[in-house]
Order: sequence, then C-alpha cells, then structure tokens
Amino acid sequence: MKLLEERIKKDGKALGKTVLKVDSFINHQVDSEFMDALGKDFAEHFKGCGITKVFTIESSGIAPALMTAKYLDVPMIILKKQTSKILNGKVYQTRVTSFTKGTSYELTLYQDYIDPSDKVLLIDDFLANGEAAMGASRLIKESGAELSGIGILIEKSFQKGRKRLEDAGYYVYSQARIGRLDKGVIEFLPEDAPVLEGVDEKELLDK
Ligand code: 5GP
Repeated sequence: MKLLEERIKKDGKALGKTVLKVDSFINHQVDSEFMDALGKDFAEHFKGCGITKVFTIESSGIAPALMTAKYLDVPMIILKKQTSKILNGKVYQTRVTSFTKGTSYELTLYQDYIDPSDKVLLIDDFLANGEAAMGASRLIKESGAELSGIGILIEKSFQKGRKRLEDAGYYVYSQARIGRLDKGVIEFLPEDAPVLEGVDEKELLDK
C-alpha cells in the first residue's frame, strides 16, 4: 500500500537491523485520518470474507483495528496482555513472548466476546516473528471460531513471522513489507514478492 510506504519513508526511523520506530504516527502519537485510510484499505481487502469480528492486540493495533471494524460494520475486540493467569475459567489465555521488550505476557480473551460461529480478522501493527499472531490464533482456535484472515500494517519480511503464519494455513495481507532495515535504511518489497524464509533476530544482530 503506497500510502503507508510513503509515510514510513517520511516519518519512520530505522534504529538498526531489526527495529523500526513509527512513534510519530502509529505507536505513540496517532494520526487518526491516516488510521482511517488504513482501516478502509483493510476493510476493502477483506470485505468478501464474511468477517464477523475484528480482533487486535493491545495497544498499538487498536487504532487501525477500530477503523477496520467501522468500515466492515462489525465489533472490535482487544486481546489483553495480562501479567498473570486468571483462574476463574471465563477466559481463554495463552503465553506470548514479546520481541521488542523481551518479556512474556498472558494474552487474554473473555469468552463472552467470541462465539464458535465467528469469522475473525486479526489486525496488528507489526509482524516480526509471528509470536503475537500465533498466540491470538491459539485463543481463537480454542474458542471454536475461525481466524479467517490476518491484516498487518508493517511486515518485517526478513523475519520469520509471515512464513510461520502461512505455514500454519493463515491468509496474511500486509500493507507494507520491509525486506531490509539498517540504521537510516528502509527497503520495501512489493506486495506480491515471494514470502521469505526469514532469519532469527539474533542472527541479524550477530552480523
Ligand atoms: P511478533 O509477535 O510478530 O514477533 O512481533 C510483533 C509485535 O512486536 C508487534 O505487535 C509489535 O508490538 C512489536 N514489534 C515487532 N517489531 C517491531 C518494530 O520493529 N517496531 C515496533 N515499534 N514494534 C515492533
């Protein structure tokens, strides 16, 4: 999606080989008009899929997910990152390891907000190793609902997430695909470029 690529070129900051900062329009300060445009694009992309709910993971996915849900005219559900297990049996929970922070959390969904008949679209800001998306997929599977598609703003194609999700049978649409990052360097891949194997973050840091 050209609009997002242009914005990343203008306002994104590559801190090194692995991390892209987009704090000025996605992660910290949020550009609402821009989020509206991204949500509209996701909604157009997934409109024929019978989506009944849009899911996201707190917190950076909330803005684009809300706009997507608005255009698809379905509810948006935020998967919470809890520090510990809830033992009352009314929730689905699964442990996820965060790439940026090097920490773990319990991804949590109250059973009230999902039904086995749901067809879910998952929206998230970044795809790196696919940990967060795979965690969300486990919760959705456990509920008996279907994960019908995954929409990502920024796919770091040189990492393993995209391949992992596709190997698990999920359809992924990324609005921007990044083939390489380095200090001050951001290289994009075309939307239809082949899916890369991807490397571990550690390998990138060792080079
Ligand atoms: P994954 O679960 O795919 O390994 O990582 C995705 C999550 O890690 C995203 O939800 C995002 O919060 C965070 N993340 C991964 N890479 C980056 C990055 O380069 N920049 C920022 N700001 N967040 C990232």
